[in-house]
Amino acid sequence: MDLGLKGKKGIVCAASKGLGRACAMSLAREGVELVITARTAADLERTAEEIRRETGTKVTPIAGDITSDAGRAAALAACPAPDILVNNAGGPPRGDFREWGRDEWEKAVNGNMLTPIFLIKAVIDGMIERKFGRIVNITSASVKSPIPELGMSNGARAGLTGFVAGLARQVARHNVVINNILPGPFLTDRLRAGFTEAARASNRPIDEIVAERMKGNPAGRAGDPAEFGDACAFLCSAKISFIVGHNLLLDGGAFNSSIA
Ligand code: NAP
Repeated sequence: MDLGLKGKKGIVCAASKGLGRACAMSLAREGVELVITARTAADLERTAEEIRRETGTKVTPIAGDITSDAGRAAALAACPAPDILVNNAGGPPRGDFREWGRDEWEKAVNGNMLTPIFLIKAVIDGMIERKFGRIVNITSASVKSPIPELGMSNGARAGLTGFVAGLARQVARHNVVINNILPGPFLTDRLRAGFTEAARASNRPIDEIVAERMKGNPAGRAGDPAEFGDACAFLCSAKISFIVGHNLLLDGGAFNSSIA
């Protein structure tokens, strides 16, 4: 299926690695000209070059912290009128909520709730005027099924989800569509890092640890970031304007429910 995205312009946040990178790659394959961001300039430039080489698409890397005003301004200056916005950033740390004070909470709410909201605010009126917009927020399976030790993630992302649910219904009539994708376990650097300690402690290869931990998932494996990227490109398609305000859970069926 041609997703109808050739020549569109997009911003993919936090995209030098992992899920953001995969979204950028899939969109570039569909012919979307991209601005991609991340804090580490060298990694970001490398990723931009890999995407250009593989897809022949224009990719502009803008290094910066997307959770800061300056980082967002730089991304928007490089692409002031995007057709597509993929919101993403690092997630808050694990821990016991008794140890988190105002600073920790403000960082989490800023990164995983306010940052996407401010980016949406900056681009949405232009999308409405141009009668085309696709916004995908990368959140987490923890929005649907909270992970106790990820309390700040559960809370901040749920806040974004509530806001988006309302806004999506205010803009859909202008062919501006907002949806969220909720990743379960995807084999990115972030997930690998979580398994590293277990691998070290048991002196076993990390792939063995991953396979062991994923055995209980109905799909029998962790998610491949590339399939996440393709789902994102689908939700950015010109053809999906009736899919409004959804929370697409990509978890291999781990959330046990008759209606996902
Ligand atoms: P990852 O592999 O660690 O990649 C994170 C990417 O985001 C890197 O490119 C990183 O580059 C960039 N980044 C992080 N903080 C940034 C910031 N403040 N400004 C700009 N760029 C930033 O992580 P991932 O697994 O793709 O996870 C992406 C998001 O999905 C996270 O919020 C994570 O919590 C969530 N998630 C992931 C999974 C999973 O299984 N992978 C599951 C549930 C939720 P720099 O460090 O150079 O900035």
